[in-house]
Amino acid sequence: MAETDLYVILEVEHNCSEDELKKSYRRLARQYHPDNNPGNAEAEARFKEISQAYEVLSDPERRASYDRFGSDVGAGGFPFGGGAGSVQDIFDMFFGGMGVNSQQRRGPQPGPDAEVSLEITLDDAAFGAQHEITVTLPQKCPDCAGNGCEPGTQPERCSECMGAGVVQRVRNSILGQMMSTVVCNRCSGMGSRITSPCATCRGEGRTNQTSTMTIQVPAGVEEGSTMRLADRGPAGPRGGPNGRLFVHLRVADDERFERNGNDLHHEAVITFAQAALGATITVPTLRETLDIEIEPGTQNGTVHRIRHEGITQLHGRNRGDLYIHVAVAVPAELDEESEALIRKLAEHRGERVNAQHSGLFGRRKAKK
Ligand SMILES: [Zn+2]
Ligand SMILES: [Zn+2]
Repeated sequence: MAETDLYVILEVEHNCSEDELKKSYRRLARQYHPDNNPGNAEAEARFKEISQAYEVLSDPERRASYDRFGSDVGAGGFPFGGGAGSVQDIFDMFFGGMGVNSQQRRGPQPGPDAEVSLEITLDDAAFGAQHEITVTLPQKCPDCAGNGCEPGTQPERCSECMGAGVVQRVRNSILGQMMSTVVCNRCSGMGSRITSPCATCRGEGRTNQTSTMTIQVPAGVEEGSTMRLADRGPAGPRGGPNGRLFVHLRVADDERFERNGNDLHHEAVITFAQAALGATITVPTLRETLDIEIEPGTQNGTVHRIRHEGITQLHGRNRGDLYIHVAVAVPAELDEESEALIRKLAEHRGERVNAQHSGLFGRRKAKK
């Protein structure tokens, strides 16, 4: 039978320091490394044993656990895995730092990310707003508090990996022995196994739950902006932390305004008479209306800039501007009296216009 006391394997005292442990390990690893003992199966087995023992004892947490539970644990083999650094050490020592696919200790994994979309108004985007969103996502099981065990029972430490969630595999290759740390098959990396699964979640530790949360949409967001809410996404399996919830913002069209960055643009339609004679017109701002003065002789396309009536800068206080684009509308249809008045105006100003209300034929001709 091989020696099962990890301290004996590493030829150190039980109360040795981390440094002593490391020194002894390096000395033994060199001594028994397969490269130095070609074809010696015993040395190879010893090397494996040493590496595995060091895996456990070099991790303070696992060493403490080992000290507490003694050397009789691990019916399925040596406890190892854990500290990826020590696996790397072995390779640094013998292969000059050649890569090794070492994985960190596993344990409960965080939940995945989830996403929802939220439609907001232009006003919300301009000033910020609180919104409630309702989502149905896996959340911690209320009956087992997420550990997946029937109430009153506990998960059992995995006997394959001794709770590490990972095990070390040694295989022969042309370069000698390759060591890799892989997820424990028996517990799928959880480090523990459930003997009596919770009836509510069947051992998953989470169930689909519908919840409503209030989120603060900041001023200045735009179409396609995404808010990232840490810890509001799906719960991880068996008590793992929640993933992230991404909220994609859709800004509903506002028929009053076009948005360009933080500026807003509004088209104000005025009549020919208003353009010619001047007028006071009322235009919308985001939350109120404003009277602006149209000067006599205003041309189509004239732009009025109203400062600070646009969108609030994201994470700032400045606001963009509101631009009023004046469009002079030409009446598409005229009643008889209007037509007569305009003819009179044209005559007065000596403008050439069609003599009579022109039919289709006349109009075509006029275009030439
Ligand atoms: Zn449960
Ligand atoms: Zn395991």
